[in-house]
Amino acid sequence: MPVNRRQFIVSSSAIAAASALDVRAIMAWPQQPAQAPPQTSFAAIRETVGYFTGQGGTIGYHLDKEAIVVVDSQFAATAKICLDGLNERSGSRRIDYLINTHHHGDHTAGNAVFRPVAKKILAQVNCPRLQIEAAAKAAQSAKPGAPPPAEQVVANATFENTWREKVGGETMALKHYGPAHTSGDAVVTFEKANVVHMGDLVFNRRHPFIDKPAGASIANWIKTLEAVVADHRKDTIYIHGHAGPKFQPTGGSADLLYMRDYLTALLEFARGEMKAGKPRDVIVKITDPLKGFPDHGPLVERVLSAAWEELAA
Ligand SMILES: [Zn+2]
Repeated sequence: MPVNRRQFIVSSSAIAAASALDVRAIMAWPQQPAQAPPQTSFAAIRETVGYFTGQGGTIGYHLDKEAIVVVDSQFAATAKICLDGLNERSGSRRIDYLINTHHHGDHTAGNAVFRPVAKKILAQVNCPRLQIEAAAKAAQSAKPGAPPPAEQVVANATFENTWREKVGGETMALKHYGPAHTSGDAVVTFEKANVVHMGDLVFNRRHPFIDKPAGASIANWIKTLEAVVADHRKDTIYIHGHAGPKFQPTGGSADLLYMRDYLTALLEFARGEMKAGKPRDVIVKITDPLKGFPDHGPLVERVLSAAWEELAA
C-alpha cells in the first residue's frame, strides 16, 4: 500500500464499463475508447510522485515546481482526463518528459494527447519500432469496414540500457533489463521519492500478457524482477502496470517477488505437462488455477501458449 494515499476523484461514471483492470484493453489494441466515461482517479504516493488510473496501464507522474514527468499515456480519452488533472496541479506548464515503459497501446495510445505539451517522449530504443510494427500488423488483420488505424505517436528520444537525468528536484533513472514483457521494457526510478514505475513487468495478482511476437522472455522476466528488487531499497514503492480486481496498482518488493514466483510456477507447470507428453493444443486449454496462485483464477490460453512457445524453442 502506498504511504499517504489520498484519492482525488476527477471524473466517474456509475457504469465502470472499462476500468484499468479490463484485460480486453491490454489484448485488443489499438482500440476505440469505451462508450461510457471511464472511472479515473489521481493518488499521491510519496513526495512529488503519484499515479493516475483510468483505462489501460497505470500512469505515474512526478510534478514539482520545476519539472513534470509522466510515465505512460493509456488511451486518448483517459490521457485527456489525466492531462487536465495535471494542468490543474501545475498551472498548465509543459511536460518535460513523457516516458513509454513499452509499446503496447494501453500505455502509448494517449501519446497523441500529450505530444503537443511534452518536450520529449522517451522510451527504450526498441519501443518505437515495436509500436509501429504492431500497428501495421493490426491494420493488416483489421476486418473490412473497420475504422482506420489511429496515428501512432512514438518516442522521439531513446536509450539502450540506462538513462539518468535531473528533473527539477528529482533524479529519474531508466533501465532496460533485457527482454521480459516485451523486448523494449523500461523500469523508471524516481530516486529521491524512492518510487519505481514497473510498466507491465508487474501484473499484480492477475495473469499477464506475455508478448512473444515482440520478443518477450519469461525466463529473463523472472531474472529481471529479482534484479529490480536488488537494485532498490527495502522501502521502495512500486507502481504496477495492472492489478487484479481486489489488488492495488502500487505495492512493495513482495509484489515483484510474488510475480517472479508466479512466472516460475507457470514455466514449471508447462514444462511438466510437456514432459508428460501432452500436445500443445491440450496444454493451452488447461483451466485449472496454477497451484499456489489462487488469486489469479483459472489459467488462460495466452499465458500457457507463451510458456509452451518459450519451452519448445
Ligand atoms: Zn503491456
